[in-house]
Amino acid sequence: MTMITNNLPTAELQRLDAAHHFHPFTDRAALAEKGARVILRGEGCWLTDSEGHRILDGMAGLWCVNIGYGRKELAEVAARQMQELPYYNTFFQTTHVPAIALAAKLAELAPGDLNHVFFAGSGSEANDTNIRLVRRYWQVKEQPEKRVIIARWNGYHGSTLGGGSLGGMKPIHAHGGKIDGIEHINQPYWWAEGGDMSEDEFGLARARELEDKILELGADKVAAFIGEAVQGAGGVIIPPKTYWPEIQRICKKYNVLLILDEVITGFGRTGNWFAAQTFDIKPDIITIAKGLSSGYAPVGGSILSDDVAEVVGSGGDFNHGYTYSGHPVAAAVALENLRILQDEQIIEHVQNVAHPYLAERWAKLAEHPLVGEARLVGLMGSLALVPNKTKGAKFASEEGTVGLRARERCFANDLIMRHVGDRMIISPPLTITPAEIDTLIERATKSLDECYAGLQ
Ligand code: PLP
Repeated sequence: MTMITNNLPTAELQRLDAAHHFHPFTDRAALAEKGARVILRGEGCWLTDSEGHRILDGMAGLWCVNIGYGRKELAEVAARQMQELPYYNTFFQTTHVPAIALAAKLAELAPGDLNHVFFAGSGSEANDTNIRLVRRYWQVKEQPEKRVIIARWNGYHGSTLGGGSLGGMKPIHAHGGKIDGIEHINQPYWWAEGGDMSEDEFGLARARELEDKILELGADKVAAFIGEAVQGAGGVIIPPKTYWPEIQRICKKYNVLLILDEVITGFGRTGNWFAAQTFDIKPDIITIAKGLSSGYAPVGGSILSDDVAEVVGSGGDFNHGYTYSGHPVAAAVALENLRILQDEQIIEHVQNVAHPYLAERWAKLAEHPLVGEARLVGLMGSLALVPNKTKGAKFASEEGTVGLRARERCFANDLIMRHVGDRMIISPPLTITPAEIDTLIERATKSLDECYAGLQ
């Protein structure tokens, strides 16, 4: 068999890829027809593909390469750890130094009394852990009936059966169903769904759907509420500022645990270590992954409050864990990533570069004839593509047709932006410079112009 290397022609790599590689979230027939874009290497905010294009990565991979590509320190740490102890588990009263160090560092960085970390290999796994944790919590408290978890439509919490069930994405539920004991309420998406209400009124109304749902089910049946601080995969939907305080009031009133999914928003994305700090949320559990290692190694986890750790921990064995929970190489890489974020003051950089530099330029995109609203928090932003400037306006074509076209124009202009339906989103590496922001805005504008011209 031919050696498969970077030097093979693109068409041959694409042919082999389509023949043998079954991709996530991809239409296999479309892949076979068009071929996947083959990415060869990355440096900072830039990727190079097999055709030699230099592409500005406006999505930091899948919202994860927070420190940018090509940091050799992480490779060196991984190589060192692989030689010293490539693997050992953390089951059955054993541990190792990378897991200890990473857990202690996360306890230092996380707000409030979130002092205990249960490790997983990904965000989906961590959310599966959370399902078990909150149900176990109420079992130990002798309220085993308290097991329902309330989540939101159009939320995303991963694609394992548990994570996909917590998420409110119907196309995911349609492939394999969903587990029992998960209920969904509406999302706080004011621009499209708020009608005549003010943003603040709408935030309260949508939060109060949680109270209605708890009363409908009975507070003695509800274990937890889970939400992303800012919905990412749902289209970067930034909630009204009244939303989270009301959600917290309701959780407290009915003794419902609050799980904040920070898989995207953690590790600087919103201008603080955690969005819990940006939005003043005090969760019982935070889900982490992605930016924890900047995507250099697969690692995720759940950070637990003192109360959750003490209650679940007082029930004897917690019958749950993954072979790679606290994997030493992934833990060492994550720790080095956190060191870089901290020593290089990358979170302060996000604050400086996001507001006002990117914020002003992003807001200006709302003047484009194709854009209805432009939203941004820290370094995650969205544009709603619209046929006219009426709030909540939608194209007559099937949802996502225009978004897909805009994404293809971005691709052709060597900019990676993602589309969610007819929303365009960005989430670049946190190290992006003002000059790179200029390039991003220029390429996005050109792509929007071309997409708009194609619709006329
Ligand atoms: N939670 C949120 C908010 C996410 O955005 C994602 C992934 O995009 C996940 C969970 C799942 O993480 P993973 O893909 O690492 O399983």
